[in-house]
This record gives sequence, structure tokens and C-alpha cells, in this order.
Amino acid sequence: SAERDAGAVDEYLERELGLRVDALEAGREHSHSAGLPRIEVSPAQGKFLQLLAEITGARRVLEIGTLGGYSTSWLARGVGETGTVISCEFEPLHASVARENLQRAGLSERVEIKLGAAQGSLDSLLSKRVAPFDLIFIDADKRNNVAYLERAVKLSHPGTVLVLDNVVRSGAVLDDPARHGTQEADVRGIQESLRWLRDDPRVSATALQTVGVKGWDGFALARVL
Ligand code: SAM
Repeated sequence: SAERDAGAVDEYLERELGLRVDALEAGREHSHSAGLPRIEVSPAQGKFLQLLAEITGARRVLEIGTLGGYSTSWLARGVGETGTVISCEFEPLHASVARENLQRAGLSERVEIKLGAAQGSLDSLLSKRVAPFDLIFIDADKRNNVAYLERAVKLSHPGTVLVLDNVVRSGAVLDDPARHGTQEADVRGIQESLRWLRDDPRVSATALQTVGVKGWDGFALARVL
């Protein structure tokens, strides 16, 4: 099938472009053997996040949804030795596996993991009036996407880049959310977040579909005005 071929092409691209970085692969394997769900970004998407951080010259990155720290590691590479990544995660096991992985990859100095529900962590960053972030990667519970976008914009400066992952979900985003059973709240959250990106005058956005080892999905990309 086309989807299987797309997965095989992703593996080919990973090999040809050397996207399977040893230190990060070790972390991914550790996450999988610790029983974390295999829902991290692909190597090609991870390198895309690193490049996005590098291209925009990002020094401060915010991530919502750490899991085992795989995307976090790519972003940490992207900000360089003197940059910072703050990543929010509410599952204690995920956060501790991520800390171990970042430690072993030599990236823990530039990453701070905030343990707790992400909305609370973002509210506490807002109340502390932290310096704005240059790049914000939103990849947690999709039902809260709008809440995260609202807070992300307040933690931004003009030019901040927002990336919102998983906005296609094999086309599920097209359908009536009432038909999505357990996924309903998340599909609705994605649909609401896309409308929010269209209607909020503080951002300019697009979305791109992707295929590969993770099937058919996509991400929205926005710039804070
Ligand atoms: N960005 C990660 C990567 O690519 O390596 C994958 C993140 S995974 C898709 C989503 C993560 O968000 C999970 O680890 C989950 O526990 C976490 N999460 C879900 N809801 C959350 C919430 N309300 N607050 C904080 N973290 C949450």
C-alpha cells in the first residue's frame, strides 16, 4: 500500500541522511523498554525540529509533551550549548525516563522538565514573567490545544514560531467528531485549534500533511505577529 511504501521511504531517508543519531536512538530504545508509548516524532521530524530551531536562531524553546524526551533532545541540539528547552510533562514515569535519556545524551544541562499538568506549568511561567520563547512545540493532549495556544502566544514575541503536531490523524480531522468515540475530544480539540489559528489576529498559520513511518498525519506551523 502507499502507506507501507511511505514508511519504507522514511526508513530509506533515515539511512541515507543519517537521521538515526546513536545517542538519541539509545534514549528511544530505553523509552520503549520502559513501556512508554511509541508515539514520539520520527527521526526525520525530529531533525526537522532541530533545523527549525537552528534556522530561526532559537535560544529559548518551550515544548508541551515530553514523553521520553526524544523530540526534546532534537530541540536541545537545535538551541545549542547556551540555549534552553523547557518541556512540560505530567506523567512522572515519562519525565524520569526523559531525564535519564537527556542525561545520557549529554543534553540535560540545557533542558528543564516541568512535571505537572501543562496548563498549570504554563500559567506558572506566565506569572513568573519569564523571557519569551522563540519556538514552541505543542504535542500533548490535543483536547487542550486551544488552551496551550492561548498561553503559548502570551509566552511569545513577534516572530515566535509555533508548531502544533498531529493535526491530520489519518484524515480523522475531516469527520464529524461525534463519530470518533474515545478520540472525540482530541479530534474536536484539533478542529478548534485550527479555527483558532485562522481567527486569532495574533498569528499567521498554515498546515502541512505528512506521510512516513508514523502513517498519515500533519502539523500546523504558525508565526506570532
Ligand atoms: N513530544 C514527544 C516526542 O515527540 O518525543 C511526544 C509527546 S507524546 C505525543 C504526548 C505527551 O504529553 C505524553 O508523554 C503525555 O503523558 C503528555 N501529556 C498529555 N497530557 C498532558 C497534560 N495535560 N500535561 C502535561 N503533559 C501531558
